[in-house]
Amino acid sequence: MAPIRKLLIANRGEIARRIIRTARRLGIATVAVYSEADRSAAHVRDADEAALIGPPSPRDSYLNSEAVLEAARATGADSIHPGYGFLSENADFAEAVQAAGLTWVGAPPSAIRAMGLKDSAKRLMIAAGVPVTPGYLGEDQDPDRLAAEADRIGWPVLIKAVAGGGGRGMREAHDAAGFAEALAGARREALQAFGDERVLLEKLIAQPRHIEVQVFADSHGQVVHLFERDCSLQRRHQKLIEEAPAPGMDAATRAAVTGAAIRAAAAVGYQGAGTVEFIADGSRGLSAEAIWFMEMNTRLQVEHPVTEAVTGLDLVEWQLRIAAGEPLPLAQEQIRLDGWAMEARLYAEVPSKGFLPSVGPITHLRLPTEIRVDSGVEEGDAISPFYDAMIAKLIVHAPNRAEAASRLAGAARAVEIWPLRTNAAFLARCADHPDFAAGRVDTGFIARHMDALASPPTPAVSGTAIGALDEAGAGEGPRVWSPRSGATGFRINAPPRLSATVHLDGARPDEAFAFAETPPPRAGDEDESRVVFCEGEAFRLSRFRLGEGGGAAASDGAVRAPMPGRISRLMASAGQKVTAGEALAVLEAMKMEHTLTAPFDGEVAEVLVEEGRQVVESAVLLRVQAGGEA
Ligand code: ADP
Ligand code: ADP
Ligand code: MG
Repeated sequence: MAPIRKLLIANRGEIARRIIRTARRLGIATVAVYSEADRSAAHVRDADEAALIGPPSPRDSYLNSEAVLEAARATGADSIHPGYGFLSENADFAEAVQAAGLTWVGAPPSAIRAMGLKDSAKRLMIAAGVPVTPGYLGEDQDPDRLAAEADRIGWPVLIKAVAGGGGRGMREAHDAAGFAEALAGARREALQAFGDERVLLEKLIAQPRHIEVQVFADSHGQVVHLFERDCSLQRRHQKLIEEAPAPGMDAATRAAVTGAAIRAAAAVGYQGAGTVEFIADGSRGLSAEAIWFMEMNTRLQVEHPVTEAVTGLDLVEWQLRIAAGEPLPLAQEQIRLDGWAMEARLYAEVPSKGFLPSVGPITHLRLPTEIRVDSGVEEGDAISPFYDAMIAKLIVHAPNRAEAASRLAGAARAVEIWPLRTNAAFLARCADHPDFAAGRVDTGFIARHMDALASPPTPAVSGTAIGALDEAGAGEGPRVWSPRSGATGFRINAPPRLSATVHLDGARPDEAFAFAETPPPRAGDEDESRVVFCEGEAFRLSRFRLGEGGGAAASDGAVRAPMPGRISRLMASAGQKVTAGEALAVLEAMKMEHTLTAPFDGEVAEVLVEEGRQVVESAVLLRVQAGGEA
C-alpha cells in the first residue's frame, strides 16, 4: 500500500469539508468533485482542486462511479475517500477504485458485501456468536409464509428491507390484521429505493435504544473499539441527536457490546472505520442480555465527531493511516474515554410540518463559534433540493452529560439562519427536555413529545418595535437583522420606544406581521422588515402598512384585521364606491387606532362586521371589488 499524497473526496457538504481539513493538516493535497448544482459549493472552494462530475441528480454525479474515477484520473489523485452515503458502501465501486490502482479509503469490498444485506449480515453474525434480534431471515418471501413467521415471532414485528438503509423500507405491524398492508408498504418503498423488495422480519423492540460501537481494524489483523454512541433520539428512524458514551452504560454491558462489535468486524475481515449498530430494549435499562446486533455500517458515520470528542482522536486521520497500510495508531488499552459529547444535526426543515425540507439560498447564517461546528455551507450558499438538507452538525464536549446537554441546547438556540426554516429551536427543546436530561430517551421520544417540541413559539419579542429593535447594544436577548442592509449584531436591550404587536412568521401567509407604528409610506416590504432571532427561531417583522388593507395581501380585496381588536368605527357600507386609500373602518387595538383603507379603487362588495365588534387577528372585515366608477 502506497502513501497517500493526493486524495479525491467523492462526496459533498460537511463531510467533504471535514475530510479536506484533516487531509490538509496531514499535508495531503485534496480534490473535490461536484455536480452542476454545486459549482460554487463550500466544499469546492475548500479543496485544492475540483472536478465537475455531472448534472445535479445524484445518480448522474455523486453516484456516478465512472465520472468519479475519471475525475481521479484527470487530476492525478492517488486515493479516494467516499465519505458517508453516496458510494461509500458500494462494493463494486470500491473494487473499481482498487482496480484503477488507487487507494480506497474504506472497508474492503468483501466486507462491504458481507454486511451489505441485512439478512445475510445477520446470518454471519449468528455464526460469529453475536446476539441478533429474534426474527425471520428466510428466502421464502411468500406473504402467507411471512405472516406465519410474524405470528411465530410474536406481535408486534418490524418489517425491514434486506437492502434497506437510512430508515427506508421499514414498517411496523402490530397484529395479523395489519400485516398485509404493512408488508406491501415496506416492499413498495424498498423496491423504489433499493431495487430489491425482499424483506426480513424482526421482533419490534419495546422502548428501543440505538446503541452503536465504533470499531477500527488495520491491515495487520488488529481490531479495536472506540467505545459506544447512543443514537436513540431519532425522527422517523433517522438520527437527530447522538451522544457518547451511552447513558446508563455499565462496565459489564459495555464489555459485552464492544466485544460483540469486535467479533463482528473480525468475522468479515474488516479494515478501516466501521460502526456496528445494536438495538437495546430500554424498558429495564441497558443490560448485556437485552442488546442485539442490528447492522454494520461499513464506512465513517455522520456522528463520528462525538467519538472524536470523547477520545481526542481524529477518525479521518486513522482512516487515512490505515488505508496507507500503517498499523492502528493506538492499542485498545491506550484508547480512553473522557467526558461526554453530543451532536445535533441541524437541518433545513420544518419540524411542525412533518419535517418538511426547506430549500433555497441562505442569506444570513450565524452558527455558534465556541463549539465544534461541521457545516456544509457558508452564508450566501444554498440548500439544494437535490441533496440531504443537513446544514451543519453542532458538536459539544463537556465533563458530564448534564453540562453537555445544556451546552447543546445553548448552541442550538444561538443559531441564526434566514430565510430557510430550520430545526434549531426544535433541537434546543429536545436537549432541554426533562426526559432527555434524565436519559429517558428511546427512539419514540420525538413522537411522544412532538406537541411540546414543535409547539409554535410564543411571541417573545412582543412590545418591541422596529425603532427599538434598531437600537444597538450589548447583552442577552433576541438578535435583530435587517435583510435590506445586511446589518447585524444588534441586541435588544433598550426599552421599546414604540408600542407594537409582533406577530410570528408562520401559519398563514395572510397573517400579517404587524407594527402599529404608522410609517411614512414607503415601497418595498423588505425595506421595512427586520428578522428577529430568538432561541433558534427566526421571526420576520414588518411594519403594518396602514394604507394597504391592514398589511394583508391587498390583491384579493379582503380588508383584514391586522391584529386582534375592536371595530371602533365603520365608515363603509355595501355597494359604496371607494377609492384606493379611502378610510373604511377604524380598529382599536393596543391602545391605538388603526385606520383600515381600501386596497384599490372599486366597490365595497361585502361588510362582515358591525361597529363595536371584537375581531380576531386576520379576520376579514370587508371585501372590496375592483372596478365600478369610483
Ligand atoms: P447514519 O447512521 O450515518 O445516519 P444512514 O444509513 O441513516 O446512516 O445514512 C447514512 C448517511 O448517508 C445519512 O446520514 C445521510 O446523511 C446520507 N445519505 C443517505 N441518503 C442520502 C442521499 N440520497 N444523498 C446524500 N446523502 C445521503
Ligand atoms: P437502516 O439501515 O435504515 O439504518 P436499521 O436496521 O439500522 O436500518 O434501523 C434503523 C432504526 O430503526 C434503528 O435505529 C431503530 O430506531 C429502528 N429499529 C430497527 N430495528 C428495530 C427493532 N427490531 N425494533 C424496534 N426498532 C427498530
Ligand atoms: Mg442503521
